[in-house]
Amino acid sequence: MKKEYLLTPGPTPLPPQISLAMARPIIHHRTPQFQEILKEVNLGLKWVFQTTNDVFIISSSGTGAMEAAVVNLLSCGDTALVVQGGKFGERWTEICNSYGIKAEIIDVEWGKAIDPELIKKKLAANPAIKAVFTTLCETSTGVDTDIAAIGKIIKETPAVLVVDAISGLGAVDIKTDIWGIDMVVSGSQKGLMLPPGLGFISVSPKAWKLVESSKTGRYYLDLRKAKKALDKNDTPFTSSITLIIALNEAIKMMQKDGLEYIFNRHKTMADATRAAMKALGLELFAPTAASNGVTAVKVPAGIDGEKLVKTMRDTYGVTIAGGQAELKGKIFRIAHMGYIAESDIITGLACLEKVLTQLGYKFNLGAGVKAAEEVFLKAA
Ligand SMILES: *Cc1c(COP(=O)(O)O)cnc(C)c1O
Repeated sequence: MKKEYLLTPGPTPLPPQISLAMARPIIHHRTPQFQEILKEVNLGLKWVFQTTNDVFIISSSGTGAMEAAVVNLLSCGDTALVVQGGKFGERWTEICNSYGIKAEIIDVEWGKAIDPELIKKKLAANPAIKAVFTTLCETSTGVDTDIAAIGKIIKETPAVLVVDAISGLGAVDIKTDIWGIDMVVSGSQKGLMLPPGLGFISVSPKAWKLVESSKTGRYYLDLRKAKKALDKNDTPFTSSITLIIALNEAIKMMQKDGLEYIFNRHKTMADATRAAMKALGLELFAPTAASNGVTAVKVPAGIDGEKLVKTMRDTYGVTIAGGQAELKGKIFRIAHMGYIAESDIITGLACLEKVLTQLGYKFNLGAGVKAAEEVFLKAA
């Protein structure tokens, strides 16, 4: 018998009440019954995003919401600034390139966070920059970006700030309005405890001016259509009814806990995971600015990183993530976001220790679990 544990930074496990909500018979979306749900969800999303701005729901994975941000803000020939410190930063550049938008890139060493002053310099040097694209939690490296500091800088300029919070939202704090973020983009399958399939995008009044002036062709992702519908608690096309009903449940669960509790819970799991790695003699990939949503760890010398991940999953049912792109085989990533709890972390760590031992890595068996337990005990 093999029991499955999902410890990846998307998709994340589903709470049973969410699965049950999705098992209910489908209802029609153009009904007062569904509109009532959408009304609750629209308000709930503002709470999750910590904003009074509109938050639009798109039927797509997170990348669809990223593309929606680009096409609604910018036109061919415009210039954007992209902070690129991992695979998801690169995605902003790739989307811009697809639409003929010039992406000026700030390359950040993978595993490090950007110094916000670099953005200030770039903006001062090139006033043509209309939008700055960043990532809250760079899931590929396990780094969190100081969005508060970046927001302060961009507020004083005509440029808009766009943040990919696809994995960050619901795991680490993001104060959309207080930090002055013009667009926050997210997705359903990470911190929000839902299956993949929903994208989200919040839009500030400053960003909305660009939405109205963008000359990029758009149809399904046109936020002007979405706005007309949103004002009537509707969506322009068939809503992802089942997922939106599940989202309503997820937001209610989150509201019961409160955001502060949720962020602290994620921090404790991250602290425990990091303490465990240290006790095992393993090195964090991002020792500074490590995210509370996911921990990236260097595969120790002489150990086959891909085999480690594969054995944990295929033999023992514990799925963690490997490295992406240039980090393939070089790191592994343990997620602690969404519906992942202390007990899952302990199970994951125990399995990691077992497979590391089998692959020949030397350490005190149980040291990682013990270090994590100590963090959990302190927080209890
Ligand atoms: C998962 C993720 C994405 C991609 O989202 P999809 O839902 O796979 O389209 C983009 N950015 C970040 C930071 C992510 O973690």
